[in-house]
Amino acid sequence: MARKFFIGGNWKCNGTLEEVKKIVSMLNEAEIPSENVVEVFVSPPFVFLPLVESLLRPDFQVAAQNCWVRKGGAFTGEISAEMLVNLGIPCVILGHSERRSLLNESDEFVGDKVAYALSVGLKVIACIGETLQQRESGSTMAVVAAQTKAIAEKVSNWANVVLAYEPVWAIGTGKVATPGQAQEVHLELRKWLHDSVGAEVAATTRIIYGGSVNGANCRELAAQPDIDGFLVGGASLKPEFADIIRSLTVMKSQL
Ligand code: PEP
Repeated sequence: MARKFFIGGNWKCNGTLEEVKKIVSMLNEAEIPSENVVEVFVSPPFVFLPLVESLLRPDFQVAAQNCWVRKGGAFTGEISAEMLVNLGIPCVILGHSERRSLLNESDEFVGDKVAYALSVGLKVIACIGETLQQRESGSTMAVVAAQTKAIAEKVSNWANVVLAYEPVWAIGTGKVATPGQAQEVHLELRKWLHDSVGAEVAATTRIIYGGSVNGANCRELAAQPDIDGFLVGGASLKPEFADIIRSLTVMKSQL
């Protein structure tokens, strides 16, 4: 069984009502492969989720950019996983590096969030990735393995998890990882999953790449055997997102 290509568009903290409607119209008109070939999610800011969900074509889904670590209650400013389920939002991005670095989300906290979101029935795009300093000191694999371990310790069923490898130095910088650099980490991550979680999880879990993916660099990255799709920031707000959705040229076969 092949791992279905997965493309997520992370809109981050961008957009007015008018801009959001324009992006949705652009997506609704895009010609892309069928749902059997590629799974597409877009992730608007919380306040636009119901609107985007109601206007977006049915073959695209929506994801939140975050949710609270446990059941809702007296947590001012937070959005609970149950609220997302209640609104019919199927998926959430967790552990994005902007939250890890700006809001001090630790590996353990992200692991708890992933486990809680899965427990209420959400799909999770779980982000991991090293900083430039960590890459330059040769600790890339140790960092991403520790981040993945913190998730693996809390999660027993990986069916609804997509792992997003996003080197921090490549996010929003225009400095994309080379296909070789990305493939190397994806392969190592898959080996880590194989040895630490199990062969089945390693073979079936989608590992997507994120970090300055655009219409020009997506095809070469998509051709790598262990890159199962992309998490796209800046370019997901532009017409080239459709080119990225079309980037898959060969179905990835199971290991
Ligand atoms: C992201 O925010 O997850 C991301 C990959 O951003 P960008 O594509 O802009 O680097």
